[in-house]
Amino acid sequence: MSLMNRPYFRTRIAENTRLSPSACKIVFERPEGFADAFPGQFISIRVSEVTVPLLRRPFGIMDLSSTGISALIKVIGPGSSILAAKRAGEEVEIAGPLGGVPFDRPGGEGVVFVAGGTGLGPVIFCARSWKRENISCKTHLFIGAQTKEELLDGLYRDDFSFIYSATIDGSAGYKGNIVELLEKEIDKGGIPSELLYSCGPKAMVRALVDRTGSKFKNHYTSLESVMGCSLGACRGCTVPAIEDGKKVMRSVCLEGTVFNSEAIDWEEWK
Ligand SMILES: Cc1cc2nc3c(=O)[nH]c(=O)nc-3n(C[C@H](O)[C@H](O)[C@H](O)COP(=O)(O)OP(=O)(O)OC[C@H]3O[C@@H](n4cnc5c(N)ncnc54)[C@H](O)[C@@H]3O)c2cc1C
Repeated sequence: MSLMNRPYFRTRIAENTRLSPSACKIVFERPEGFADAFPGQFISIRVSEVTVPLLRRPFGIMDLSSTGISALIKVIGPGSSILAAKRAGEEVEIAGPLGGVPFDRPGGEGVVFVAGGTGLGPVIFCARSWKRENISCKTHLFIGAQTKEELLDGLYRDDFSFIYSATIDGSAGYKGNIVELLEKEIDKGGIPSELLYSCGPKAMVRALVDRTGSKFKNHYTSLESVMGCSLGACRGCTVPAIEDGKKVMRSVCLEGTVFNSEAIDWEEWK
């Protein structure tokens, strides 16, 4: 993306719905000129009119209509807290859609999604976009959270063909982490092995690579790393990768967010 052509927009919050003590869904009015987006792309939000926090905060697009852009916001620090406290009608500046490589539309028997932490929004966007495009493959969502409340199951109940949940405290679904549950379901049979799409914390994706990598033909992952400009200029969000046997650094904001998990140098990514 050319830096001369920054896709910045002033817009307004159309809706802010609290989903749990630490999560909300925000719908922004879709500004004129905001391009069509693909699953795995994100918006970068200036959460405050003052200089603290200085950097914009990136959030995956959860859905897009002719009038609105939705995002799922998990409160983890000052920027997400300010955003989650905003009310309908308030103005914000957003940039987007950002991210150079989205999730591909699937072919074949089905796709397995694994979402944890802040990774649910982009996965919902995949399922909704493909339904609208009449892509008929079955979607299996594996979703992990700390507690039942944080599963947010009312948000995506109708979006996937099959849903498998895990909570760390055991208040709903399998008691334990989502990677363990995926391993167990693979062992039982019935989970398609063509394609795994993941989105969530690095530790979760790394565990998927280590423990279930060999069970899927392809594993693509939408990565999150701490971002500066979100436009590919500052290189603050780069991750180590291996291409043609060479070590390279790839920016999540421009050369991702979606990567083949095999291309990431997990040992080097500290
Ligand atoms: C491409 C992309 C898409 C994202 N999509 C979503 C989304 O859909 N919903 C959502 O709730 N969040 C999403 N995030 C994460 C979100 O950007 C951060 O949670 C937010 O910027 C935190 O800002 P803060 O000021 O609240 O907390 P900060 O004070 O900035 O951070 C609090 C703590 O979290 C760590 N942290 C912050 N951002 C990240 C990160 N990206 N990766 C690892 N650790 C981090 C910080 O190092 C710090 O320890 C996404 C991030 C990226 C890069």
